[in-house]
Amino acid sequence: MTAEGSLVGRMAVVTGGSRGIGRAIALELARQGAHVLITYRTNSALAEAAANEIRQLHVDCTTSEMDVRDDNSIRRMFEAARARHGEIDVLVNNAGVTVDGLLLRMSRDDWDTVVETNLTGTFLATRLALRGMVRQRRGRIINITSVVGQIGNAGQANYAAAKAGIIGFTHAVAREVASRNVTVNAVAPGFVDTDMTSGLSDDVKESIRQQIPMGRYAEPAEVAAVVAFLASDEASYITGQTFDVDGGLVMQ
Ligand code: NAP
Repeated sequence: MTAEGSLVGRMAVVTGGSRGIGRAIALELARQGAHVLITYRTNSALAEAAANEIRQLHVDCTTSEMDVRDDNSIRRMFEAARARHGEIDVLVNNAGVTVDGLLLRMSRDDWDTVVETNLTGTFLATRLALRGMVRQRRGRIINITSVVGQIGNAGQANYAAAKAGIIGFTHAVAREVASRNVTVNAVAPGFVDTDMTSGLSDDVKESIRQQIPMGRYAEPAEVAAVVAFLASDEASYITGQTFDVDGGLVMQ
C-alpha cells in the first residue's frame, strides 16, 4: 500500500519532531503522503519511536540529531535530508523551549536559551532551507509561535519576546519570497497538552483552563491539522499569516 494525500512525494523537515506538537505534525504530514525528517536534540530513542510509527504510513522517515542554536548542526541535517530526498518542500520550525521566571529574577542565560532556541533557531533553519525553495519556485515554511507572543504571559517575558519575534520574522520573510511561490506562515497554539505544559501546577492548569472559551487544552493533533493544511497545495494563496489554534483564547 502506498500513501495517499495532498503531500505525496513531498519532503518535509520538522524540527523537534520527536515528541509533543512536532511529533503530531510529522505524523499528519506523513499521513498526507510526505516523506519526513524529524530532528531531536537529546532523546534519540523517542525520535526513533516516532519515526517507526511514521514509517507504518508507508513513507520514508529519518531522524537527525540537531541543535537549532547551532548553524553547523542544522546544515548537516539539511545535507542529509537533501541527499536522501532532494530539495526540501516543507520546513516546520517547531523546536522550542520555555525557561519561566519573573523578569526581575530572570538571568541572562534564561533569556538567551529561550530566544536562541525559539527565535534564532527559526532564523537559522529558515535561512538554510530557503535558497533551495526559491530555486525550485516552491516551498512552505511554517513557524510555530504561541498566543503568548500576541498577548504576553507573566513569567514568560523571554518566551513572549521570542514568539512575538517569530511573528514579525514570518511577515518579513513572507514578503521577501512571495513572488517565488514560497509561502511563510505561523501557527499560534494556545495551551496544548504536551511535556511543555505538564510541569505546570494543577492550580495554574485550572486557572488557564477557565480562561479558554472551549474549556480545555488542545490536543497536539489539532495543531498539526492546521500545519498540514498550510503545507498543502490548497493553501497556495496564503502567506504572512498567523493562525491561532487556541479554543477561542485570543479573539481579534
Ligand atoms: P515539547 O514537548 O517540550 O517538545 C519540544 C521539542 O523541541 C522536542 O522535540 C525537543 O527535542 C525540541 N528541542 C528543544 N530544544 C531544542 C534545540 N535547542 N534544538 C533542537 N530541538 C530542540 O514542546 P511542545 O509543547 O511540543 O512545543 C512545540 C512547539 O510549540 C514549541 O515551539 C512551543 O514553544 C510551541 N507551543 C507549545 C505550546 C504548548 O502549550 N505546549 C503552546 C504554544 C506554542 P528533545 O526531545 O530532543 O529535547
